[in-house]
Amino acid sequence: MQHGLETTAIHNASVQRFNHELPFLDLGTTESYAEHANQQCWSLLCAMICNALNEQAEHLFIEPDAMFWRIRTRRVDGYSEEILHDSSALQTALNLLQTLLWGKDYFTKPNRKARFLLQIEGAEQALGLTVLSTAKGDYYEFSLSLSETIPPILEQLNLDPTQLRSFRELLALKTGLIVLAGPEPAHLLRTMQAMVQDVISPDRRMLFIAPEHEHSLPRTAQIESHCLNQQHSNENWLHALDQHADTVMLSGTVPQGVYRQLNELATHKALLVQAIEASSIKSVMDLQQQGAQESQHLYAQMRALIVQYPVRTLCKHCKSPAILTEQEKTWLDQIRTPASENVISWLTDGNTERYLMPVGCSRCADTGYSGSQSVFHIIQNPISKLHFMHSRGSADGVAYRQSAINPLLKQLMGMVNGGEVPLREAMRVISLN
Ligand SMILES: [Zn+2]
Repeated sequence: MQHGLETTAIHNASVQRFNHELPFLDLGTTESYAEHANQQCWSLLCAMICNALNEQAEHLFIEPDAMFWRIRTRRVDGYSEEILHDSSALQTALNLLQTLLWGKDYFTKPNRKARFLLQIEGAEQALGLTVLSTAKGDYYEFSLSLSETIPPILEQLNLDPTQLRSFRELLALKTGLIVLAGPEPAHLLRTMQAMVQDVISPDRRMLFIAPEHEHSLPRTAQIESHCLNQQHSNENWLHALDQHADTVMLSGTVPQGVYRQLNELATHKALLVQAIEASSIKSVMDLQQQGAQESQHLYAQMRALIVQYPVRTLCKHCKSPAILTEQEKTWLDQIRTPASENVISWLTDGNTERYLMPVGCSRCADTGYSGSQSVFHIIQNPISKLHFMHSRGSADGVAYRQSAINPLLKQLMGMVNGGEVPLREAMRVISLN
């Protein structure tokens, strides 16, 4: 396996208690750990985490299979995967970590979840770990982007003033459904937190159900959905939803059995905001058309669809002037077509010299990127529009679609012109719409 593990081996790794407003596990002292740890195995795991962090990955998955283990990282532009044939050292390290997190009898606890700080090259990195038992063995998911210690606010989401106003108008609604969709659950959760922070007030009754809550938010009833998804799951959910909240935020999987009540809530009693993991508008539409009848009814009354796309930002140490490919030139010509006349004013007129591209250096582990930012596409009353926009062969549909994506295109091209993201990232995001 080409992990570069030797070169990035970390020998001073230690686990510490996560200092946070939510309760965290006491992991014991690092000294007692150092006595018992198998240093080499530990370095292997730390190097894997370190490599994933250097690749700007959001998640690291370690998945056992019959003959080998799969090591996958998830970045904003997709997955990368490697195969590990000899897993014994890694298994030792994972066992050590779990003993530190959950005690010697950790394996008796079925689904384990924790957050902790890992010291990597002198810097503290906040990490999340979820361990799920599967038929093939334990499945490990490391979350690598838990660095914020206070919840975000809307102003931190990189919205342009029009979008910020749209967010606030939508959050002022008394009933109806807003769907927030995107490929990256951690980014969606962050946006949900910012939305909650924006509407918290003495006369608002907030209910927020999510797989886990990183932050405790004031004046908000927060429920972690794993507490609901046990025996009598539907009953637990129905009971949780029956709290006379006027704003209900839902993140993560929701059982089919509660959609009737969600429908009732959104129609008469509350503003419902649901985050859905989806890679494009098309997949949200499929969900709306293919779900059970109750969920179809709910999605039919969607007041707005907000799609959140992560874009990779260029490493400022190595970005360089771009040489555009034929494909990129054609794409630029297309977005300058008369159908989008008003686009010309903010597009550079054929001057592509300021476009930059990723190169790769030691500061960004040769990836050319330094991290990611979100861009948003807000579609009000989306159902009829979406079907119209995506109806095949309709010239009106195509023109409408072009004008609808203009704010997003503008936001992306602003970032391209400013040298923050390469043109290919803007093309990738636009192609998803
Ligand atoms: Zn670089």
